[in-house]
Amino acid sequence: MEINKTKEGLTLKAQSEKTKNGEYIITGKLSGDIEVECVKCLKPFRKHIDEDIKFKVVKPPFNGFDEEYDIIEQEKLNIDEIIKSEAESIKNDFSNICESCKNKEFNKVF
Ligand SMILES: [Zn+2]
Repeated sequence: MEINKTKEGLTLKAQSEKTKNGEYIITGKLSGDIEVECVKCLKPFRKHIDEDIKFKVVKPPFNGFDEEYDIIEQEKLNIDEIIKSEAESIKNDFSNICESCKNKEFNKVF
């Protein structure tokens, strides 16, 4: 199944495939611009996202481990929810540092 969905400023373009076990393999690209907060000065800034994704959607509870895929636990496949939780984790990323704070760091080092 082809996925092309935009939510919260993020676009997921991917292919999903259902496995024999009822799991879904989703591979593709997540891109867009998303407003995040700088972890240093707390000012909002736009972060450009362009990343390859490899998800495996499994029914909870999942106690395994997968080296190849990021595991997502869902009772029923819900693409909107996946994009929303990706947006959430991008917003909560501790490496969200705005340009001006990055420059300050740079000046401190040298
Ligand atoms: Zn900042």
